[in-house]
Formats: sequence, C-alpha cells, structure tokens
Amino acid sequence: MIILLKNNTKNDELQSLIEWLKNMGLDVHISEGAEQTLLGLIGDTSRIDTDLIQALDIVESVKRIQEPYKNANRKFHPDDSIFEVGKDNLIGGGHFQIIAGPCSVENEEQICTIAKDVKKSGATILRGGAFKPRTSPYSFQGLRQEGIRLLLLAKKETGLPIITELMDLSQLSLFDEVDVIQVGARNMQNFEMLKELGHCDKPILIKRGMSSTFQELLMSAEYVMSGGNERVILCERGIRTFETYTRNTLDISAVPVLKELSHLPVVVDPSHATGMSRMVPPMALAATAAGADGLMVEVHNDPAHALCDGPQSITPETFDKLAHQVKSLRNAMNAALEC
Ligand code: PEP
Ligand code: MN
Repeated sequence: MIILLKNNTKNDELQSLIEWLKNMGLDVHISEGAEQTLLGLIGDTSRIDTDLIQALDIVESVKRIQEPYKNANRKFHPDDSIFEVGKDNLIGGGHFQIIAGPCSVENEEQICTIAKDVKKSGATILRGGAFKPRTSPYSFQGLRQEGIRLLLLAKKETGLPIITELMDLSQLSLFDEVDVIQVGARNMQNFEMLKELGHCDKPILIKRGMSSTFQELLMSAEYVMSGGNERVILCERGIRTFETYTRNTLDISAVPVLKELSHLPVVVDPSHATGMSRMVPPMALAATAAGADGLMVEVHNDPAHALCDGPQSITPETFDKLAHQVKSLRNAMNAALEC
C-alpha cells in the first residue's frame, strides 16, 4: 500500500502516522521527494482501512498495491484448491462437478424423480431449494424444514450429495446432513452469516451478488475463510446490467478473472444468469469452455408447472443431452491442452 502525503505535512504528524502504522505490524518505507513524501507499507495490509487513512488531514491519497483478501488470494496459494464436496467428490484443479436439480423442492415424488434422472445423466450433486428467497412475499417460499427432509430422502435414494440454500442463521441446525451450504446472491454480503459459516465443517458455495464486484465476492469468501473454513466455492450467476432481455447478464469473464485472482473453485449457474431454458445449454457449454470447475443447472420434470423458476428450468431430457455435451467438450479441451 502506498500513502501519498500532502506537501505541507508537519514532521510530528508524519511521525505519529508512522508510529501508528508500525503498531499495526507494518514496516514503513519513507521516500522523501522534493515536493511530496510517499510512505510504502510493507507487510500484511489486509487489516488496514484505506478510507480511514484517506480521511487523515495529512494524506493526499492512498493506493492499495495488494488485494485486501489474503486467504482467497492466489498470490499466497498459487495452486488450485482441491477439496471434497460430498463423499469422494472432488472439486477444483481439474475436478469438475455438475450440480443439478429443481429450483425448489416441491414434493417427494418430484425431488426423487429428478434426482434419479439427473444422476443417470451424470450429475454429481443434487440441488434443490428448501428456503427460497423470493422477490414477492406472495410467491412460494419453499417447503422449509420439510424440504430439507425430502432432499435427504433423495440423497439416501440416489447417493448424491446435496446442496441447498441457507437463508438465515436460525436455520443452520437443520443443515447437519446437508453436504454443501449455498449462500444466495441476495445474502452474499450477510457478513454475520459468512462469519458463522467460517466455523462450519462443510463446503460453502457463495453466489455472486447481482451487483457485486469480483473483489466484493472474494471478500465474502475471505469472511468464511478467515474463520477457518477453507472450503469455499465461488459461483457466477449473472449480474444486473442495462440489458433486460435476459434475467441477468452472464459474466463469463468471471471464470478466468476469479481463477486468476483466487485459487478457489469457480462454478457457473447459467439458469439464474439467463432466466430462459433455451439459453441454458449454450451458456453452460461456454462456461465449461472458459474453464469453470463446475456447473449449477436447474432441472424440472414439468417446467410449465414448477412452483419456482419454471421458465429457466430445463427438462431431464435436455439435461441428459447437455451433460453428455459437457463431457465431450471437457474431453476435447483436455486433448487440445495436451497438444
Ligand atoms: C437459487 O440457486 O435457487 C437461487 C435463488 O439463486 P440466486 O441466489 O443466484 O438468485
Ligand atoms: Mn431458482
């Protein structure tokens, strides 16, 4: 981090700033120019509040050279993170997971049928919302506790690990047998929740907020990781732009950007990103080609009557075709990379 001081800075003010920075465990390199003085901070500056320094009378400007996230930063962890998501399922570093299932769990037959179908086609993790974040309070809110029970039933019947969204910390005790906890886009910056999940012994998938920057997403991951839970998966699910044709705009560049900045696995959700089932297969393939470590796809056996997100849900038949295409694409990519 570099601090540029104003040119009329008094020595005692400068010395007290330097002392304060040293007390924060940093080495301070002073560079006195003819006009202005620069302070170069050496050490872990992730705990330094740049706004606080910027607000000091003697400071002209502050510039971060290093990112404020440390645990999630590839600079401190050059190799891809690889970890288990459910028994014997690895993600990251070339290990790819296909997460599939309905937007929300509706009843036993629905979740069990879809679970069996997607497993047959190659899905490796079952998704299904029990607690649903809906824009309208009059829309279906999810089966809640019963939804978790049904997901666990589908897990038992198929052997698929399950992922479902935690909307509030008060629900956490119901998630004991859930394999991966999803933090939804709307909760990406629920910092109290993220802190608590840092003490949790299971992988956490964090969806990018619809108006969040990459750095904000990585800072959310940092919240979980700084609590001791290193198993964080980043999920790009589209962001809000001026375009209204699609539900959101899928930011495919999120994959190479996040993988450059961080060692954490990155998955892409083309369903919430586009809001249209016909856009899901091409975007899923594009995300795979961009180097994603996995996909999260909404699949429903009767999209027209789905209680949530029917228009963006693909059928088990379409999913079957897509899963095979993804597999072929990954094989082709691996062969091409070997050349
Ligand atoms: C979901 O995956 O069911 C969901 C609500 O997604 P998002 O948080 O990305 O909107
Ligand atoms: Mn949905």
